[in-house]
Amino acid sequence: MSQQGYVATSYSQPQPGIGGYPTAYGPTSTQPFYGHYSGTVQQFSAAPGPLKPAPPSGPLSTAGSQSSGPPPLIQSNIHNGHSSPENTAQRFQGPVAVNGPGTSYPPYGQPPYPSPASSAPTQQLTNQMGSLHLSGYAPGTAQNHHMPPSAVPQAPFPTSPTQHLPPPSLSTGAQRPPPPAAVPTAMSALPTSPSLVMQGGHPGYSPQSAGFPQQLPGQPPIAGYHPPQQNALSGPQLAYPGSLPGSSQQMSAQQKRLDPDSIPSPIHVIEDDRSRRAGQVYPTNIRGQVPPLVTTDCVIQDQGNASPRLIRCTSYCFPSTSDMAKQARIPLAAVIKPFAVIPPNETPLYLVNHGEDGPVRCNRCKAYMCPYMQFIEGGRKYQCGFCNCINEVPQFYFQHLDHIGRRLDYYERPELSLGSYEFAATLDYCKNNKLPNPPAFIFMIDVSFTNIKNGLVKLICDELKTLLEKLPRGEQTEGENSGIRVGFVTYNKVLHFYNVKSNLAQPQMMVVSDVGEMFVPLLDGFLVNFQDSRSVINNLLDQIPEMFADTSESETVFAPVIQAGMEALKAAECAGKLFIFHSSFPTAEAPGKLKNRDDRKLVNTDKEKTLFLPQSGIYETLAKECVANSCCVDLFLFPNQYIDVATVGLVSLHTGGTLYKYSNFQIHSDGEHFLSDLRRDVQKRIGFDSIMRVRTSTGFRATDFFGAIYMNNTTDIEMAAVDCDKALTVEFKHDDKLNEDSGALIQCALLYTTVCGQRRIRIINTGLNCSTQLSDLFKSCETDALINFFAKSAYKAILSQPLKTVRDILISQTAHILACYRKHCASPSAASQLILPDSMKVLPVYMNCLLKSFVLVGSTELSTDERAYQRQMVMSMDVSDSQSFFYPQLLPIHNMDTNSETVPSAVRCSEERLADTGIFLLENGLNLFLWLGMNSPPELIQGIFNVPSFTHVNTDATLLPELDNPYAKKLKSILDGIRCQRPRSLKLMIVKQKEKSEMIFRQSLMEDKGLYGGASYMDFLCCVHKEIRQLLS
Ligand SMILES: [Zn+2]
Repeated sequence: MSQQGYVATSYSQPQPGIGGYPTAYGPTSTQPFYGHYSGTVQQFSAAPGPLKPAPPSGPLSTAGSQSSGPPPLIQSNIHNGHSSPENTAQRFQGPVAVNGPGTSYPPYGQPPYPSPASSAPTQQLTNQMGSLHLSGYAPGTAQNHHMPPSAVPQAPFPTSPTQHLPPPSLSTGAQRPPPPAAVPTAMSALPTSPSLVMQGGHPGYSPQSAGFPQQLPGQPPIAGYHPPQQNALSGPQLAYPGSLPGSSQQMSAQQKRLDPDSIPSPIHVIEDDRSRRAGQVYPTNIRGQVPPLVTTDCVIQDQGNASPRLIRCTSYCFPSTSDMAKQARIPLAAVIKPFAVIPPNETPLYLVNHGEDGPVRCNRCKAYMCPYMQFIEGGRKYQCGFCNCINEVPQFYFQHLDHIGRRLDYYERPELSLGSYEFAATLDYCKNNKLPNPPAFIFMIDVSFTNIKNGLVKLICDELKTLLEKLPRGEQTEGENSGIRVGFVTYNKVLHFYNVKSNLAQPQMMVVSDVGEMFVPLLDGFLVNFQDSRSVINNLLDQIPEMFADTSESETVFAPVIQAGMEALKAAECAGKLFIFHSSFPTAEAPGKLKNRDDRKLVNTDKEKTLFLPQSGIYETLAKECVANSCCVDLFLFPNQYIDVATVGLVSLHTGGTLYKYSNFQIHSDGEHFLSDLRRDVQKRIGFDSIMRVRTSTGFRATDFFGAIYMNNTTDIEMAAVDCDKALTVEFKHDDKLNEDSGALIQCALLYTTVCGQRRIRIINTGLNCSTQLSDLFKSCETDALINFFAKSAYKAILSQPLKTVRDILISQTAHILACYRKHCASPSAASQLILPDSMKVLPVYMNCLLKSFVLVGSTELSTDERAYQRQMVMSMDVSDSQSFFYPQLLPIHNMDTNSETVPSAVRCSEERLADTGIFLLENGLNLFLWLGMNSPPELIQGIFNVPSFTHVNTDATLLPELDNPYAKKLKSILDGIRCQRPRSLKLMIVKQKEKSEMIFRQSLMEDKGLYGGASYMDFLCCVHKEIRQLLS
């Protein structure tokens, strides 16, 4: 990527900062935007992209240490134990019923907004956290989708080529939606009296007082929304007082001056999409169609493009040229979730097995056979949709074509008619040309003083006895034993390995005290089949808590633990996952020993980035070795103080693992929370030893990758493992002009090993439109995916740039995107109107939530570990999880209808929406609060808590009592519904209005001014508006 300074134009005038976020414009140049298209053609040129992690430094140093653990028991013979069965799953189930080429692109439009308010708010910008996202899709009509909502017929793939040919109507081709009428959202500003409540400055945010420009006098607001007219919102004069988080009273006093209903509501956008598309069948046969929002529950039917559960894009119509892309500055990216859970009412991916021939692939670009390959010459050749190479059809794969040039076996072969499917891989796709062994799970438990004392070790051991019965199995092996082998290690300053071979009467322990040169003291009997060794393992799990009951050892090692697990997998020649249960800061003399470096004085300085970087190069080296040996690391942390999450979590981040953190763990309040996570983690769908390649049609390519991944080169995305919760985000860049007819095609191929040890290739194809019209690009954007991209790119960028720079870039990029729309796509209107594209109505509110997130907010009051933890969590989030994480759901529980299945409609995340007579549930995938208003209805309090009044409610409880009444049952069903959607368990926190703990809850009210800094939504919107006006002036 080139790095160039700004060219002086109207876009590059120096400007005063906005509140806490000074703008990124100005003569100082070289600030990149996120995404490659960081500059308009004439104004900015491409700037450096987010930085790659620093290269791993030196190898593990070795430092010996003395044994302090129990003595070795019996030394076993060292050789490799191995197993196991291959289960070759075949599951041709059925072709997808195909419907006509519905050119059913819904018209764009939008619901009315209340008329604009007419008073001026005060602006403060600071930081806080949270966000939401929505994709702008116009109100489509249900009947545009051809499938009946209930039926998702899946006829079997016939074995005879001549049977059951569905009507030849499927098209994954170049249908383009009719150009929808442009229906922007507009907000006009009314001249209003500025009135400010001045507040003190917040550390790190210089008070700014740039006045908000007056809007044109006499510009009338437009009440309601009337496409294609524009909706108006008052954009009052603003000044930015200091950004100290004010008291909530102050905040609400100010905000009441402007009607919050007059600014775009995420709730409105979510509900609107639901009302149009929920419960319907969404067929994927139309290229470039914008899918329903992640918050809308519908039935996806693969008809040639992959399900949006597997892949979502920031825009479903790419600009034809790189100049256009630079003008719009909309990042072009896809969020890919290869193992997304497919609900039972949708068809799972088919497995295609060509036996020894293996998958059919393009000779030149190696793309896999897919619906974008065009068969020619009577079926003897095909043209690759990605590189246009003409390939011979292999003899075994030949088939005649029908009268429209389609193979007669079109509907029998998933790879010809579907967007996603799997191929059985041949030996060529296996390491060393050998079929893989089934993977192994190694449980590694920190048995230092704290974990023994608080009962955690016993809790884990007791749970494993039942959990190991439920190890994942392949799809075709239900009822059979899992092929996954298990092994056990405990550790403090030294490591203890256990021989649990089935023929032993007692488990045997072997101690490795030289943690500087980690080796695995036993192979045979270390990794075993649980069913075979059940009694020995259960015996061991009973003994572990007793063996260490009297320990006083408080020092632990950490890096050698990962090293040991990896070496064990390597020796057993299998992929696998380490489950490490760790509580203490690794201070024992050993490789990877850490020192406390939690220096919050670095916050808001150029050195803040170091807080997010690992303090020792050993962990980077270890991560690389783990990836090379297909060792995924899941880390369960139980810290009572600073543990340096940025360092200890690094290996998890790069190996496709998951990091869980339970601060100040206590069995009674956190035990169930942790066990839920552990159970889910052990049982979830996962692939090992994976490597992904993203191929594209000519004219563009994948250039940047974000996620729980490791990149050894510029194209291969390596993941020691990838599970059903992990999503990676891929950014694309133009190489050339894109063709409007052929569109932009993407094929992700994920090579992996199943839990049964089968090698497979999962293919995810999707086709996007291309256009020379900016308006097409704006119409086809998905704000939820944009925010996922912005979050990951910003969270990566903070490793190399000051946070302030990162925030500034996000703000100015938001303004640039919206200014581009205003300039090139919106119908003429007064400059005082803020006009938002329909697909991006909520971009400002979500962007503000991202800016206020703990990671970006830069407050000395926030725990460094918590920030590093949230950063790591977001890096592998899918679009749905990032949406709810940044803009939490706030549900008015007092409105729940105990007689129906429905969940009460969410309300906007603002204090204004609370009522002291109400009870609200707030959830963001990380936290779950039940907020009780002081005057909550007593019958609800009684029903939910079984106590007579508000004052009797115990806020220490993390579980609700199991009660047999409609309120309790309804609330439980709402909570269960939320919990089963999220990848992590949620610990319930009960919060009473006006009590101290309410502050934790309030920081999740994302539309309000942030407790730790960050503007309110209203203020941020006004700032962005001001930026846009300056860009356009
Ligand atoms: Zn090709």
